[in-house]
Amino acid sequence: MPLPTVAIIGRPNVGKSTLFNRLVGKRLALVDDQPGVTRDRREGEANLLGLEFRVMDTAGYEDEDAATLPGRMRAQTEAAVREADVSLFLIDARAGVTPLDEEIARWLRSTDRPVVLMANKAEGRAGESGILEAMALGLGDPIPFSAEHGEGVVDLFEALLPHVERDEEEAPEDDESPDAPLKLAIVGRPNAGKSTLVNRLLGEERMITGPEAGITRDSISVDWEWEDFEGGMRKVRLIDTAGLRKKARVEEKLEKLSVMDTLRAIDFAEVVVLLLDATRGLEVQDLKIADRVLQEGRALIIVMNKWDVAEEASSLFNGVKKALDEGLAQVKGVPLLTVSAVTGKGLDTMMKVAFETRDAWSRRVSTGQLNRWFERALEANPPPAPGGKRIKPRYVTQNKSRPPSFVLFGTRVDLLPVSYQRYLINGLRKEFDFGAVPVRLSLRAPR
Ligand code: GDP
Ligand code: GDP
Repeated sequence: MPLPTVAIIGRPNVGKSTLFNRLVGKRLALVDDQPGVTRDRREGEANLLGLEFRVMDTAGYEDEDAATLPGRMRAQTEAAVREADVSLFLIDARAGVTPLDEEIARWLRSTDRPVVLMANKAEGRAGESGILEAMALGLGDPIPFSAEHGEGVVDLFEALLPHVERDEEEAPEDDESPDAPLKLAIVGRPNAGKSTLVNRLLGEERMITGPEAGITRDSISVDWEWEDFEGGMRKVRLIDTAGLRKKARVEEKLEKLSVMDTLRAIDFAEVVVLLLDATRGLEVQDLKIADRVLQEGRALIIVMNKWDVAEEASSLFNGVKKALDEGLAQVKGVPLLTVSAVTGKGLDTMMKVAFETRDAWSRRVSTGQLNRWFERALEANPPPAPGGKRIKPRYVTQNKSRPPSFVLFGTRVDLLPVSYQRYLINGLRKEFDFGAVPVRLSLRAPR
């Protein structure tokens, strides 16, 4: 298996060769204080805290005076970035971000290739303002680094790890893989039917259910497989919130334990099913749990159980739907489903929606796609100018998934009114199919 490759790119004199030397360990590349010294592209085998990869240094085609990237350097950089599994983009934190850095960043954002941004020459405190400026390049948070002094090596290691790790068979279970078990929690008020539902899903009597509140298994979670509509087996890890609670005898204690259980389950889960009792409708307590799930950034599905005995089904359904949309102001359109844990009706649809919801919750959007949307969104509805001061949003990146989280950079974007932020969040939701999973947007205005 060939070694993964890492390219070192950046404008002249930011420290590419110095970094190359540090990674490769031998003085293979020439370091010179004079910019413009012509060098060939150098390659070597690097070892960073045990992580092995091939590294390419693109230094050598440079012309400090050029206002834009000279042709040869551009071609060289582009080829390296395309070839590499990940690129290290260096800026000089002492010199700050230059127009040339911005030009390279703009191009990188359009390529969708993985990039790790490094603010080099950041030893001591000299590079602080450069680090802040680099945040605005729209390529994620820079790693403060010193190629000369070897500072920041652990952070670099962590940033590279996901891109250059080779041993796929031995890699730990990757939560982001679509094959990873769906972590599902079923929460809800006592008697909503959680235990009955879990039993039904598992297809066997693993837990004792019934109004008599007996003793159940203490298992925290149970693994099983759901057969999807195409006949495929999908792994599920289900947390049981009913078990502990059932042991309690005193009513008061029961409620307390139930809350603790619920919080723990939410913490564990990717997708939370909030089970309602259709014979009781939506209660304040349910809305509180739903709100909590969304606040914790988990994907939420609301399921009305006991649909087999529901009366005036359609008006009940519409009433709950309306109350949810009013009660959960932060996210509209949370899926509302109906099931019967006793007959099993609706459970396959529930599982299908749970997997789809996790896909949305885990989705990553490339910076290129994001910014093509972003430009259209700004054009369709330009941001306001509070107090006559223009807000100039520049670009968006997704810094996290699970839940999808975005960072918006630009001048004075921290002053964007909530209504405008909501406009952007709803736009993201629609454009990239995030459905009703929580979407987060943070604002960064470099000073
Ligand atoms: P390249 O043109 O990007 O390959 O840059 P070089 O590696 O040739 O470095 C340019 C200059 O910056 C040299 O004088 C290096 O000694 C200096 N340099 C590189 N890394 C650092 C660093 O971490 N801190 C400081 N203070 N200087 C550095
Ligand atoms: P939990 O406290 O949420 O775990 O609820 P249980 O699973 O213990 O169920 C409480 C009661 O509701 C039991 O008497 C169940 O038989 C009943 N129940 C649960 N699901 C359904 C359903 O889909 N239809 C009907 N008719 N009754 C149900």
